[in-house]
Amino acid sequence: MRPTWAEIDLGAIRRNVAAIADVISPSEVCAVVKADGYGHGDAPVAMAAIDGGATRLAVALVEEGIRLREAGIEDQIIVLSEPDHETAPELAAWELTPSVYTADFAHALSSAGFAGGVHVKLDTGMHRVGVSPHDWPELIEAVRSHGLAIEGVFTHFAVADEDPEFTQMQIDLFDEVVDMDVPVTHLANTPGALLFPDARRDMCRIGLGIYGLHPCADTRAVVDLVPAMSVITHVSHVQRLPAGTRPSYGRIKALEQESTVVTIPIGYADGFWRNLSESGRVLIGGQSHPLAGTVTMDQTVIDVRDTDVAVGDQVVLVGDQGDETITADEWADKLGTISYEIVCSIGPRVPRRYSNE
Ligand SMILES: *Cc1c(COP(=O)(O)O)cnc(C)c1O
Repeated sequence: MRPTWAEIDLGAIRRNVAAIADVISPSEVCAVVKADGYGHGDAPVAMAAIDGGATRLAVALVEEGIRLREAGIEDQIIVLSEPDHETAPELAAWELTPSVYTADFAHALSSAGFAGGVHVKLDTGMHRVGVSPHDWPELIEAVRSHGLAIEGVFTHFAVADEDPEFTQMQIDLFDEVVDMDVPVTHLANTPGALLFPDARRDMCRIGLGIYGLHPCADTRAVVDLVPAMSVITHVSHVQRLPAGTRPSYGRIKALEQESTVVTIPIGYADGFWRNLSESGRVLIGGQSHPLAGTVTMDQTVIDVRDTDVAVGDQVVLVGDQGDETITADEWADKLGTISYEIVCSIGPRVPRRYSNE
């Protein structure tokens, strides 16, 4: 009922996957759709990614994999970290592909009658999860002794978007430690895949790129991507206020002139960050307008000065309008974070609407 939504362009997802697949070919695209498809909606994104040429999917949690299965997705789904070991029966029942890096989990999987392939994860420098190079041979032996088939071996980069030297060290360490031939070797995330041809191997795990976002400036020269998410609302209230008025909580800004101030029905509970109160802007009528005061939980005020604006006019918070664009990267720069966090933080109260299905 509230005219606020995130518009997800599934055509953009398909084209982004196809463009990345073209760059990394013959390596395959595994579409990473964890965290509800980076806030875009997991099942619709997964289906669009498969249509665009992805051959497999990856998630962070067992429950995310189950959601995709419940949506009717039959492609391979890799769970990128070991879950609570007690979920081994669910992995088996839903035919999800686990990552393994402890002998305990290998034991749990085999006790649960898990019959599929597993992917063994080596820690080459990220130091989040994975088995250390020192313990690799022993782990491989434990996995085999539990009768599990090793379909994949992989690692994860810590700084592929910013440190080529460290990333090359991770690649070299992987090659030094892993001397086995398995069906699917995979090292790279989006920046690794785009910037390190040597890291492409059989498959790359592509998250950010499929959503049309770049992990760093360097990848822009490698592939053209189109952001899939726009955040849209409509003007819900219009007032004319005298110069010097300080709208909203905290009364942080005074209007420089007599101005039209409009209210939009979106706030920090939706992922429109309160820290954008000073620097944030929105697009109305194809023009950029600054916020007139603090972002509140459900509503925000915009200073449109003398622009002619009416209740119901469309407002773009992220996306294009006329010749103007506001990107997730712009929010990220202003907030001192990365676009990954921006799209993930558009809240569950904002419905996703899909275009170009
Ligand atoms: C999230 C994740 C990815 C995807 O990373 P992007 O930079 O979004 O492409 C790949 N691999 C692992 C292990 C991850 O956790």
